[in-house]
Amino acid sequence: MSAQASPVAPIRVLPPAVAQRIAAGEIVERPAAVVKELVENALDAGATRIRVDVQGGGLDLIRVNDDGRGIAADQLWIACQRHATSKLVGDDLGRVATLGFRGEALPSIAAMAELTLVSADGESGVGRRMTLRDGRIAADEPAPRPRGTTITVRHLFGAVPARLAAMGETRGEVAQIGQVVRRLALAAPGVRLTLVVEDRVLLQSGGAGDLAATVGEVYGPAARAALLPLGPVEVAEARIAGVIAGPELTRPGRGQVNLIVNGRWVQPRGVLPALEAAYRPLLPRGRHPVLAATIETAPGMIDPNVHPAKLEVRLRHERAIGAALAELVRRALGRQPIPLGVPFATGLAALDADAAANGIGEERAGWEDVAPIVTANLPPLSLIGQVQDRLLLLEGPAGLYLVDQHRAHERILFERLAGIHGAGGAEPAALPEPLLLELRPAQVASFGRRLDDLAALGFRCEAFGGRAFLLRDAPVLPGVLAGPDQAGLAGLGEPDGLVETLLSLADEDAGEGEAWRDRLLVRLSCRSAVRRGRILDRPAMRALVEGLGNTGAPAVCPHGSPLLMHVSGSVLEKQFDWR
Ligand code: ADP
Ligand code: MG
Repeated sequence: MSAQASPVAPIRVLPPAVAQRIAAGEIVERPAAVVKELVENALDAGATRIRVDVQGGGLDLIRVNDDGRGIAADQLWIACQRHATSKLVGDDLGRVATLGFRGEALPSIAAMAELTLVSADGESGVGRRMTLRDGRIAADEPAPRPRGTTITVRHLFGAVPARLAAMGETRGEVAQIGQVVRRLALAAPGVRLTLVVEDRVLLQSGGAGDLAATVGEVYGPAARAALLPLGPVEVAEARIAGVIAGPELTRPGRGQVNLIVNGRWVQPRGVLPALEAAYRPLLPRGRHPVLAATIETAPGMIDPNVHPAKLEVRLRHERAIGAALAELVRRALGRQPIPLGVPFATGLAALDADAAANGIGEERAGWEDVAPIVTANLPPLSLIGQVQDRLLLLEGPAGLYLVDQHRAHERILFERLAGIHGAGGAEPAALPEPLLLELRPAQVASFGRRLDDLAALGFRCEAFGGRAFLLRDAPVLPGVLAGPDQAGLAGLGEPDGLVETLLSLADEDAGEGEAWRDRLLVRLSCRSAVRRGRILDRPAMRALVEGLGNTGAPAVCPHGSPLLMHVSGSVLEKQFDWR
């Protein structure tokens, strides 16, 4: 049991060659890592066209050819030394704007493979070729070459049998390389990137600079057709923009969730959970989106000192950035009805509101009741009727739509309430008769503390002696507390729900701020919305659909549950076997 039983070896500093091999092995873990480093170097060199060739899963050959600014003949050797870089000016790591800056890739690759560089930094048509084998210069001579660089890596891990043996099948390595190249293409949509595997073009981006187009090039035309825009928005000194595929096209894993921070594909740990929480309730269970979003911020806002093989970064203001991105995702997906039924041939992009408006019910127009309901955020919809006393059935340009009447009303009320608090929206109105709120003695003090918060939301309460309060003003809530504007909805909701919810506040723990307010708004809209089981007349149904279509997220209720379902024409065709 004693410590003396097994003699402890003395601590020694590793011989440099061993230390270097270990460090190199961390950077050059597998062929895909080599591809990543070399393409990043090409991007840092300002290339507009980059071609990657791979043979034998990258173990036989990796070649990256670019039209960047090249390397001067007398610098080739230096470029391959450890910690040699042209990218760090001075010693300010906070200002790094390039993908590389550690000067470790080329020496690490040279330690693991035969490395040949051919490069020219001018227009003379002549450059230089240098080959390094076993750390020694095996060739160094002039070579014809237009401006740019070609780096060839042969026999990767040839001298490291253990690593070679640990490599999986060639196919697995090619898949890894494909993923790396796709991510690089998304991070640099302005660069034409080509991946050639065993002489076959596996992937090519157009390099036109358009992120959505690049998503189509790397993930296919179905993904392109399903894309919805995200932003752009500016928040916390950052600009966020991107695209996400709608709920009809999802993936079983997170592999196509792409975040690009200042041109680098990364996994910002402070942003990803908020993003995922935003899309989870809006996509089929367990599915993940196709997404590409860019976050542009000043270099000083990111900690660049990440291990080159790792992708985690920390951003300043990452909470605010995560929240803004989550909101964009919620808005984009929240407008998309949940598709019912099996695979979709076409994206919801087919729901072009303008084009469809002409096609629907043309000869029926003129009758107020059957004219399609045209709104900002839903396709034009013709009302068919109510089903099961809870669902509104509608016909749209691309099939049938089902709307949960309670959740639709909830969504309308929620946005109305949130809007009042937000941009000093509609003025609250005086109730025809003030509502009396009677509290238990123990509740009075805590309710009293809420009065200002409530007033900010449009609910003006005043003390009425003892344990009573009077609610005098309340926001005009369509169908609950009538204003002049909402004919169809009149009397639909449950005004008592307001009183109940306000009273329940007195029992709440004193949680403050946003969370408290959001919970209150969700609860207020839920308790006062029309119930399921209530038979509606047609004007009320129309008013609900109209109100819903003009909200920001007509496909989800404030709890995040679906409220709008879509049975597309193609699903019906398939199910009925009409073809
Ligand atoms: P880092 O990218 O961190 O600077 P590397 O070892 O990857 O380190 O590259 C070392 C240097 O070699 C770079 O700083 C750059 O000056 C030069 N270099 C490497 N690849 C290219 C390329 N494709 N085009 C131009 N210069 C390159
Ligand atoms: Mg580099």
